[in-house]
Amino acid sequence: MVESTSPRWLVLDGYEDEPAAFGVPPYVGFHIRYLCGVLEQAKIEYDYVTIDQWRDFIRVEGEDAASARLANVSGVACIAGAVVPGRYLRGTPISLNETRNIIRQLPAQVPALFGGWAIRGWRQQGWNPLRSNLFLAVQDTDATLSNFLQSGQWKHCRRTAEQWTLWAQSGATSKAVTQHPDLGDEENRGLLTYEVEVYQGCVRYKRGCKFCIEPKKGIPIWRTPEDIIEEVRLAHESGVEHVRLGGMTDTYTYMADGVQELEYPIPNPEPIAQLLHGLREDERLGILHTDNGNPSIIAQHLEQSEEITKTLVETLSDGAVLSFGLESADPNVHQANWLNCDAKQLKSAIRLINKHGRGRGARGLPNLLPGLNFIAGLNGESSASYDLNLNLLHEIRNEGLLLRRINIRQVEGEGFQDISQKDFNSFKSSVRDNIDGPLLQELFPLGEKLCNVHWETHDGRTRLAVHQTEAHTSKDCHGKAGISFGRQIGAYPILIGVEYHIPLETQSDIIVTGHGARSITGVEINLNHSNVSQKQLEAIPGIGEKTAWKLVSQRAKNIRKNSQSGAYQNPQQWFDATDVDWNDDFEVFFK
Ligand code: SF4
Repeated sequence: MVESTSPRWLVLDGYEDEPAAFGVPPYVGFHIRYLCGVLEQAKIEYDYVTIDQWRDFIRVEGEDAASARLANVSGVACIAGAVVPGRYLRGTPISLNETRNIIRQLPAQVPALFGGWAIRGWRQQGWNPLRSNLFLAVQDTDATLSNFLQSGQWKHCRRTAEQWTLWAQSGATSKAVTQHPDLGDEENRGLLTYEVEVYQGCVRYKRGCKFCIEPKKGIPIWRTPEDIIEEVRLAHESGVEHVRLGGMTDTYTYMADGVQELEYPIPNPEPIAQLLHGLREDERLGILHTDNGNPSIIAQHLEQSEEITKTLVETLSDGAVLSFGLESADPNVHQANWLNCDAKQLKSAIRLINKHGRGRGARGLPNLLPGLNFIAGLNGESSASYDLNLNLLHEIRNEGLLLRRINIRQVEGEGFQDISQKDFNSFKSSVRDNIDGPLLQELFPLGEKLCNVHWETHDGRTRLAVHQTEAHTSKDCHGKAGISFGRQIGAYPILIGVEYHIPLETQSDIIVTGHGARSITGVEINLNHSNVSQKQLEAIPGIGEKTAWKLVSQRAKNIRKNSQSGAYQNPQQWFDATDVDWNDDFEVFFK
């Protein structure tokens, strides 16, 4: 962690995590970058620190060191984005307790600004910290900080269009990017993925889904393709490779026509094509993914949507997901909550995306598929709602259509209704067993090659500080006992487990060998028969523990006997010499 010697502002990235604003590593969120952009513009010295770096600092140096560090800052600005931090592989958002501790340790005179959805959520739940010079932003945290730096006064502020561009572009070269732990260096680029904000609001701003906050933002405000392309160009200058277009409630209504007049504005294929092709023209761009889609807009305007879908397939990286918010297939729930799309529109949109997107791309993944979101707890819901949801899913599958992911979440509290936990759990398990399971096998069939899997943790699904040490990153650990977990870069990647250690923060290609509930198992290709370990052999389907041991013993014996000529010339010769039947299916795993 970068430590200042003279007082500077501390920008603490507590990570945001919204469907349209990814910010948990390997993503870097846009709001934290805008905060840094404000300080860059004001030419104020600051340090950027992620909450995981802060935790490591406390773990190594102790709480007293953290207090001393906070006593030497000229201000703190933090984005806290997840009300209830869930389980993440690579980073965990700041919690309310951690936020409280930081505020408690901060000397009274030091200005402190906290913003993001978690702050709003915690306040609604009754959190009301009393401290002078502490401000909890409920509008734009960046604009609030800018106003404070200019006037010395805390006031809720919104950014102007000019400030949006200015801070987005300064943020692209700020320390939130250049000092982000996932950026890597020129020789070894990390998996940092730059979430870029394309627009704000939703075209259903007049009568939007009742549970959603987007309509409150009013008429959508678009950023121009030129503005976004310039921001991403600057991010590339800072070393960024991978980008996700976020901040879009619907990819298809970016700069749509008739937003103020029509219930279903008409998608405009030009600007999104200009944006996507413009981004692709820069050869430094690696993975490019996008955000949500609105199935009712797609279904009502199939011609324009088809053109946009083709552009998406042409320009996005494989594995792209368009999340569709159906929320419920029940017409009663639809009506009571002013939901966005009905089952018929949804199926029509899913068909269109499947028609163009289901082919596989360079990394072995379907190019572009829809995701589907359900919400439980909406008004009007009954036991029948779950049956309708399930029937719809079966209809979709019976047509042979693919969905990349099905997300079911429960909402509670004011404005929502209690649900039957029994119905909800039974719906979830039916989806898991009868829909998700078969889908996983179709999306990632046995024997499929998946490229560029980035290895992130060993022996557990959470990345720990120890995972950044030599013992876990050097090539000496390759093939040792244990489990490695990794993912391909991009939105909603599937978790891949391999039953031996692979040096972390490296990438390799795998063959799919099995399916879990929400993950898959695999074995690397290009294993070297002269040094492949017993654990690596055991992971190959068809080679058990005993056979692997026999093979490794035979190879050792052979090397002892023929130290000059080395081991076997190829794996088949080795298997034959060990009296193990060679199976052509083994071929793919070896060099
Ligand atoms: S369509 Fe999506 S973004 Fe718009 S109001 Fe409904 S849930 Fe919100």
